[in-house]
Amino acid sequence: MLEPYARLAERALRDEPPEQAQALWILDGDDVELLPLLHAAYVPRRSHFGRKVMVHILNNVQSGLCAEDCGYCSQSRDSKAAIRKYPLKSDDEILAEAERAARAGASRYCMVASGRGPSLERTRRLAAIVRRVKERFPIEVCLSVGIIDEEHARILAEAGLDRLNHNLNTSKAHYAEICSTHEHADRVRTLVAAKKCGLEPCSGLIVGMGETSRDVVDVAFELRELEVPSIPVNFLIPIEGNPVASDGSLTPERCLRALALMRFVNPRAEIRVAGGREGHLRALGPLALWPANSLFVEGYLTTRGDAIAETTRMIRDAGFEVEGNPLSAQEPADEQGGFQLSGIDGEILKTA
Ligand code: SF4
Repeated sequence: MLEPYARLAERALRDEPPEQAQALWILDGDDVELLPLLHAAYVPRRSHFGRKVMVHILNNVQSGLCAEDCGYCSQSRDSKAAIRKYPLKSDDEILAEAERAARAGASRYCMVASGRGPSLERTRRLAAIVRRVKERFPIEVCLSVGIIDEEHARILAEAGLDRLNHNLNTSKAHYAEICSTHEHADRVRTLVAAKKCGLEPCSGLIVGMGETSRDVVDVAFELRELEVPSIPVNFLIPIEGNPVASDGSLTPERCLRALALMRFVNPRAEIRVAGGREGHLRALGPLALWPANSLFVEGYLTTRGDAIAETTRMIRDAGFEVEGNPLSAQEPADEQGGFQLSGIDGEILKTA
């Protein structure tokens, strides 16, 4: 492998991140060659995860009605986006959707509820749902419910929750540009509380919100410092009616460079190519599997995404393996039609 790509790969194998200047070069260097960069990112990815790809399915268990003002979010108080809004779904509906996710071949079922954070009463109800899903289905369960403290985290950990998601979304320096109703520090505190109580923290970012490359690098290093083992890398889906619009920076190559950066800085983490994969990576989507070892199927919180059958075919065509679950092994994903969880509206956004 050629320099400087070989050096990046060797450092990652030793769990050493790139130097700051090199991290910026990964995103901005004019002389970066994409395929050697992705090949170097593949070295630590293969070392820690082989050729496996984890498939996650999201369920927006409560949509809209949020009093926060995150500018990228169509569920925020300031968004004029035409989405369906509904309070927390019934326990039976959530359980039925967990079963469908397990049978469809997902390795993880991620429940997401809009809002700043749950009350203790709501947390106990969510914990009961988590317990029932874990008892019935061989699937890992993740929850994304906004800001929580240790008391909430302990209740969820005792119920058997595997992971708690709370994305940093952008750097501390850029945070005030995207949200005024809470701070970057609130998000960090939630991750620390989750970890302290034995929950695996999951946290990532959204690229394409007017941030600089320095901001992206800062988030990558902050996630490393927080020892976050699961990192979703989202690419802003520009939704009409949201205050934060596309900054025009996202090309397929920019997205792939961001994924490679995340892998080099966090070599052991599950790096997930997340929201915006379909629209922003376009025909280069399969290349994301060289730095990333995980993805979402069947859509995001309020937008559609590629179906599971189509995505598993893409994974296999690229020479990778789907990491399923024991239930899905009885029902090959290819034989199942895709499904879209309720609450997801609109078409896959093909962005310019
Ligand atoms: S990201 Fe979460 S807290 Fe922010 S507006 Fe959307 S639902 Fe509310």
